[in-house]
Amino acid sequence: MAQRQVDFLVIGSGIAGLSFALKAAELGKVLIVTKSNEDESNTKYAQGGVAAVVDKSDSFEKHIADTQTAGDGLCHNIIVENVVREAPERIKELIDYGTNFDKVDGEHYDLAREGGHSNHRILHYKDITGYEIERALLEKVHQHPNIEILTHYFAVDLITQHHQGVHVDKSTKDIKCYGIYALNTRTNSIETFLSKVTLMASGGAGHVYGSTTNPTIATGDGIAMVYRAKGKVRNMEFIQFHPTSLYNPKESPAFLISEAVRGFGGILRRVNGDSFMEEYDERASLAPRDIVARAIDNEMKRSGLDFVYLDITHRKRAEIIAHFPNIYEKCLSIGLDMTKDYIPVTPAAHYLCGGILVDEWGRTSINNLYACGECSSTGLHGANRLASNSLLEAVVYAHRIFEHAADTLSSVEYASDIPTWDESKVQLMNEEILVTHNLRETQKLMSDYVGIVRSDFRLDRAMRRLGFLYEETEDFYKNTKLSVKLCELRNVIQVAYLIVKSAMQRKESRGLHYTTDFPSKSERLIDTVL
Ligand code: FAD
Repeated sequence: MAQRQVDFLVIGSGIAGLSFALKAAELGKVLIVTKSNEDESNTKYAQGGVAAVVDKSDSFEKHIADTQTAGDGLCHNIIVENVVREAPERIKELIDYGTNFDKVDGEHYDLAREGGHSNHRILHYKDITGYEIERALLEKVHQHPNIEILTHYFAVDLITQHHQGVHVDKSTKDIKCYGIYALNTRTNSIETFLSKVTLMASGGAGHVYGSTTNPTIATGDGIAMVYRAKGKVRNMEFIQFHPTSLYNPKESPAFLISEAVRGFGGILRRVNGDSFMEEYDERASLAPRDIVARAIDNEMKRSGLDFVYLDITHRKRAEIIAHFPNIYEKCLSIGLDMTKDYIPVTPAAHYLCGGILVDEWGRTSINNLYACGECSSTGLHGANRLASNSLLEAVVYAHRIFEHAADTLSSVEYASDIPTWDESKVQLMNEEILVTHNLRETQKLMSDYVGIVRSDFRLDRAMRRLGFLYEETEDFYKNTKLSVKLCELRNVIQVAYLIVKSAMQRKESRGLHYTTDFPSKSERLIDTVL
C-alpha cells in the first residue's frame, strides 16, 4: 500500500483549502486531496458574493452589528471583530490572485445588498461569484511548484494514536492528528498520507437533508471524521435553510435563487399574488433568512402547496438579465421568463453554521489539525449566518491558520508505526442499492422531523430511526470493502446524529433553531458542544 509524507495535507479544494494551500506553499510542500473533480465544491456554486467593508458609506461597526444581529446572541464578538476588520485585506488578496469583481466604474465596486445587511457591501461577479473565485484560486494553485492536487481521493478517517494501538477516549487532552487514510477511487485502494500539519476544509453537509442547494460532495465528511477521532464539534443544530430555492421537484441539488434577487427588489408573494412578508417582519422581503424561511414554511403549510412566488417583474428586463444572467437562463430552461413570470420558490438546506470547534487560529481540539471554511465552527455565525459572510470567513481563517501553522510545522515530526489499512477480512458489496436506500431514508427523516420547525416529539422520532440506520450501516462498514457511497452514508448518519443530539440539548428557540416546545429564547447564552 502506498504511504506518503507531506508537510501540509489539505482535505478539500474549495475556497478554504485552496486559499490556505497558496499561503502554506510558501513554507513547505502542500498536498491537496479532494474527493471529486478539483473544482467541485460548494464554493463553485456561490452566487451572491463576499461581504466586506470597502466603501466609504459603510463601516466596520455596521458590518459587525449586522453579523451579531443575524447571529441572535451567539456570535463570539472577538471573532466577529477579527473577521470583519481583516476582510478588506483578504479581499485584496483574492483580487491579486486574479479574481474579478463587478465594478460600476474603473474605481468603484458594484456592491450588492442582501438580507440582514444595513449597507451595500457584497462584492460579486455577476451571479457566479463562487465560480469566479474557484477559477482564480485554481489557476494560481496550478502555477505553484509546491502544491500538488490529488483528485478523486476520498478522505476516510484521520490517523491518530488510536491507530498505533493507544487507547484514546474523550477525556484525552492530547489527541494528535498524524494524517489520513484516503480511498483512491481510481484503484479502489486505501492509501496512507502522513503530515505535520493537516487542514480539514471539507465543506458543508447539505446532503444530510432531502432537499438542498449543495452539490453532492456536501456530506459532512470532515465533521464526522473529527467526531470519530474524538474531536469536538459545536452548534450543529443551526442549519440554515435557504428560503428561495427554485421549486422543481425533478431536480437535485435544488437550484438557488440568490438572496440578491430580494436585495434587487424581489417580493415574496402568495399564489394569489398577495405580498406576505410585511406580516412577519418590518424588513419584509429583506428580513434575514431564518425569518423568511419560517414565514414561507408557514405559508406553505397554510396553503398546502409546496412553494410560494418570488416576483422581480417590476424591474427592467435588461437590468434583470444583466444582474442575474445565470438565474435567468436557468429559469428559462424550465419555461419561466423571470422578467415576466413569478418564480416558484421553496426553502432548502443550504448552510451549516456549526461544525468542528476551532479557536481564533483555526485550531481544532485535536493537535496538529486545523479546520477552515464551512466544516468549522469559529464563532462568527452564532445561531445564524449573515448572507455572504461564509466565503469571507474561509479566506480570513485560511490566513490565520497559515500564521499559526508555521510554528506547528517546525515543532512536529512525522509519525512512525502507522499500520496500513487492513481489508483482509471484508467482502465486496453485492447490493450497493441498500446503501442508496439508507441514504434516502436518512435524508427523508431529517427533512420530515429535523427541518425548519422542530419539536421534542419529532427529534425523538428522528433519533430512534437514526439509531437503527446507524447500526445497519456500521455493520456494512465493518464487513464490506469500502466505497465512496458507503463512507458518505456513514458520515451523513453521523452528522445527522450530531444535529439531532444538539437540537435536543437546546431547550429554547434561537436563530435557526425553532422548536414548538420552547418557542422563546432562554436568558442563558450557551453553545452546544459535543
Ligand atoms: P467547499 O467549497 O464545499 O469545498 C469542500 C471541498 O472538500 C470540496 O473540494 C470537496 O470535494 C472536498 N471534500 C469533502 N469531503 C471530502 C472527503 N471526504 N475527502 C476529500 N475531499 C473532500 N457563501 C457566501 O459567502 N456567499 C454566497 O453568495 C454564497 N452562495 C452560495 C450558494 C450556494 C448554491 C451554495 C451551495 C453555497 C453558497 N454559499 C455562499 C456558501 C459558501 O459557498 C460555502 O460556505 C463555501 O464555499 C464553503 O467553502 P469550503 O471551502 O469550506 O467548502
